Amino acid sequence: MKFKKSLAILLMGIFVVACSTNPFTGKQTLALVPNSQILPMAFQQYNEFLSENKVVKGTSDANMVKNVGQKIASAAERYLTANGYAGYLTDYRWEYNLVQSPDVNAWCMPGGKIVVYTGILPITKDEAGLAAVMGHEVAHALANHGQQRMSAGQLQQLGAVAGNVALSGSAENQQIFNTAYGLGSNLGVMLPFSRSHETEADHIGLILMAIAGYDPIVSAELWQRMQAQENGSAPPEFLSTHPSSTTRIQNIQAWAPEAKAEARKFGVTSFKR
Ligand SMILES: [Zn+2]
Repeated sequence: MKFKKSLAILLMGIFVVACSTNPFTGKQTLALVPNSQILPMAFQQYNEFLSENKVVKGTSDANMVKNVGQKIASAAERYLTANGYAGYLTDYRWEYNLVQSPDVNAWCMPGGKIVVYTGILPITKDEAGLAAVMGHEVAHALANHGQQRMSAGQLQQLGAVAGNVALSGSAENQQIFNTAYGLGSNLGVMLPFSRSHETEADHIGLILMAIAGYDPIVSAELWQRMQAQENGSAPPEFLSTHPSSTTRIQNIQAWAPEAKAEARKFGVTSFKR
C-alpha cells in the first residue's frame, strides 16, 4: 500500500515535470526529453550539416536570409515577452544559413538553427516570401512539432543517451533525430508534419512575419506559387512535408488581417511586401 502511494506520487512528479504549456499553441506538450538535452544534440547536428554542405556567405541572398531570420527571431522574442514568457527562448542559439542546393527546401531545428536552400529562393521570390517560409519553419520549432512527431519509444531511447550523444553521437541516434526533425540527408525517411501541425505553424508563422514587419498575405501568395510547382514535373521536397492546398491558402487569407492586428499591438504600422 505504502509502495503504491509513493509510486503514484513519483509518477505524478514525472508527469508535472514532463508536461508544460506551450506559449504559442496553449497546449500541454509532453516532453520526455528536456530542451537541455535536445538542444546540444540539435546544435551538433546542425554544425555537422553545415560542414557537409556548401554554406553561401556574403552574397546579397545570404545576407537576406540572415536579415529576415533575425527579424523573425526578434518577433518571436517580443511576442513571448509581451505574453509573460520572457526568457522562454534563453537556450536558443539563433543561426540562419543559406546552403547551396537545388533542393526546394528550408527547415528550423530546435534551438533556432535555420537552413534555407538556394533552390527555394526562386519560389520565395523576395524578402517577404522568404519571411513567410522562415516564419513557418520557426513556428514548427517553437511549437515543438519535431519532438511531438517522435514516438514515445524514440524519445525514451533518445533521452537515455542524449547526455552522451550530444558529444559523440551514434549513427542510430542521429537517425532518430534526423527522422524527427527531417534533415536534408535523410529525405527518404522524413515524416510529414500532420495537418494540424501545418495549420498551427501557418497561424503562428503569420503572426511572426507580421510582427517582423512583413505583409502576412504574401504567405498565401507563396503557397500559391508552391502549389503551381507541385503540379509541375518535379514537385519540391518541401511539399512532401508541407503539402500545399486550397484550404491552407484560404485559411491564410482569412487569418492575415488578424495577424496584422496582432502586429499593431507591437507598434508595427506598415507591412513590407
Ligand atoms: Zn510546415
